[in-house]
Amino acid sequence: MQHLIHKAIASTASILTLGENRLSILIFHRVLETFDFMRPDEITAKEFDKKMQLIVRYFTPLALSEAVEKLKNNTLPQRAICVTFDDGYRDNAEIAFPILKKWNIPATFFVASGFLDGGRMWNDTIIETVRNYQGDELNLTELGLDSFDTQNNQKKEQSAQSIIQQIKHLPQQERHQKVEFIASHAKNLPNDLMMDSAQVKNMSEQNISIGGHTVTHPILATLTAEKAEQDIRQGKKALENITQKPVIEFAYPNGKPEQDYLPEHVGIVKKLGFKIAVSTQWGASNGNSDMYQLNRFTPWDKNNTKFLLRMINNLRVTG
Ligand SMILES: [Zn+2]
Repeated sequence: MQHLIHKAIASTASILTLGENRLSILIFHRVLETFDFMRPDEITAKEFDKKMQLIVRYFTPLALSEAVEKLKNNTLPQRAICVTFDDGYRDNAEIAFPILKKWNIPATFFVASGFLDGGRMWNDTIIETVRNYQGDELNLTELGLDSFDTQNNQKKEQSAQSIIQQIKHLPQQERHQKVEFIASHAKNLPNDLMMDSAQVKNMSEQNISIGGHTVTHPILATLTAEKAEQDIRQGKKALENITQKPVIEFAYPNGKPEQDYLPEHVGIVKKLGFKIAVSTQWGASNGNSDMYQLNRFTPWDKNNTKFLLRMINNLRVTG
């Protein structure tokens, strides 16, 4: 394995030199303790640890704010990389943070403040409901949705994902009502999926920067400008109250430009005093990139050679 990785790196050495003054920003969401059949694509602690080891070995991890400063001054070291996490899952504090600490990798955690201290994001409500559902079929035709097969773990995972896809783009209020109805089909949904305020504060005093990610994680493009501004502003304020530090980094929820957020939201983020904002548009960034719409990408590959190659390849695309 090690040999293959070295070979992969060596054979792409010419591409690696492209890495000068180019910044890769990685996005993670969760790091699971062990494999979860309801979340087969999420990285486990063991896999995350391995990836961080490779990052330390082949890249130069930097704090996002420092990297952006260096990007602007054209002083970024080769193969600079930033690690970011979105949403504020508890496992970021309990599983990812100790691993980041072990490898001395700084990171930014973008936290949707409304879910701290016992909240749950709607997609997790769907996943946990389907996981806990006792019957063989979850009939949601009453909601104008399908009837979903819940006979085994694999079917449950597929059904949860199709429910999420079917209701994802509904207006927030309508989606909320459907989620509440779906949740009534299961008991004992977890209230400990997200961080608590003490965890946020504790990490902000160490090598972790806490960034804004709104309060309620809305698709900003679907809101009025006033509502969008309010959600972004209140999220910033809530995190500043917890950390007692200025919150200067922001991640757009869902993060696809023109789809999930619009140019007016970039203006709002600037106006509210953020210094850096990140999207989920793929690619690396260079000195000409918009510091309020920096690209990021998800290194989802479980295979570590592919992971490295993808990261190298990502450096070729700038925006
Ligand atoms: Zn998010």
